[in-house]
Amino acid sequence: MHEGAIVHSLLDIAQEIKEKENLKEISRIKIVVGKFHQIVEEVMMTQYNFMKLEYTGFENSELLMQMVDVKAKCNDCNHEFAIDEPIFLCPKCESMNTDIVSGKELLIETMEGTQT
Ligand SMILES: [Zn+2]
Repeated sequence: MHEGAIVHSLLDIAQEIKEKENLKEISRIKIVVGKFHQIVEEVMMTQYNFMKLEYTGFENSELLMQMVDVKAKCNDCNHEFAIDEPIFLCPKCESMNTDIVSGKELLIETMEGTQT
């Protein structure tokens, strides 16, 4: 269960942003999560609602998650395809010469809160 560690580092980053932006009470954090991280949304929410209490100004905030599909691109025929399993084989030309183009994201997109 690595959701706890992810939530912890997200809150650390969020707190830095909060201080930099002079925010007092955070109402909402929107994050973008690539499915590559194999995060269970419900577990993330539970962890978040538990851990936010340790961060001043985050007690009443809510977490919004936007999941991004894992997509790979074939370097041989340029075909782009979504993947559900860690098999990076181009379905078009069967090449293994592929790169992940999305799905590895893990970032805070927006933060809303009241200013001091
Ligand atoms: Zn291909």
